[in-house]
Amino acid sequence: MATPPGLDRTEIERLRAELAGAEPEEILARAYARFPRVAIVASFQVESSVLIDMACRLRDQVEVITLDTGRLPPETHEVIDAFQRRYPVRVRVVAPDPGEVAEMVGRHGVNLFYRSPELRLRCCEVRKSRPLARALRGCDAWVTGLRRDQSPTRAATPVVALDEGHGGIAKLAPLAAWTSDQVWDYVRRHQVPYHPLHDRGYPSIGCAPCTRPVQPGEDPRAGRWWWERDQVKECGLHWDHSGRPRRRGAPGGRPAEAGGGRGRGEGVRG
Ligand code: SF4
Repeated sequence: MATPPGLDRTEIERLRAELAGAEPEEILARAYARFPRVAIVASFQVESSVLIDMACRLRDQVEVITLDTGRLPPETHEVIDAFQRRYPVRVRVVAPDPGEVAEMVGRHGVNLFYRSPELRLRCCEVRKSRPLARALRGCDAWVTGLRRDQSPTRAATPVVALDEGHGGIAKLAPLAAWTSDQVWDYVRRHQVPYHPLHDRGYPSIGCAPCTRPVQPGEDPRAGRWWWERDQVKECGLHWDHSGRPRRRGAPGGRPAEAGGGRGRGEGVRG
């Protein structure tokens, strides 16, 4: 994975200072101007919808990566299809390594994630983090839909960072400072397609067995891995398993060895 020429901490700090307070469209435009190959990594939640719409107003062709974990709800495939029909996007649908999945499932079962935090993290590692690390090879920058008000873990999300966990490329979060209301205002104003489960009580959407709707007033991420208590509600794509940003030498990270006897609520916390 090549580091873009001249990209270092100094430039990242300068970009961060220049883009402080900038609108998401300006942040995206700077990313496309600076980096030869930029990929939007989309979960196809509503933030992905906004970013793809914005990018397609700036570019004739937009590269999108999405992780098909093998456990997505069918509605996610429907919304991917809707975007491919409407926008000039090249969506790379990235699957986990079949051998790694077979080994994991053969050893721990298909629904291993319900059994312990370690096994849940193992599943996210195999189905999400490792495929993302492979998909980002050759990219100079990636764009995520992270927003600071989504969770305490995300409260300090920078607009631009040096992503050492993925080989020193740039990582941008153009919507970092936006609220949920701003996102939905944009969707309505531009009539952007969005994931149908958002209208059925799902503010946050991941894999089908690990996501449920939330009640009005509940934490928006309470429906993710809802059976876990006192765990970081993250899958490891952006933070390590103690809730810290991923660091050099941890592309994909590695959760604690499963089956070591630690039960729920132990060992992995933020
Ligand atoms: Fe596995 Fe659930 Fe993580 Fe999806 S969200 S990768 S099914 S543990």
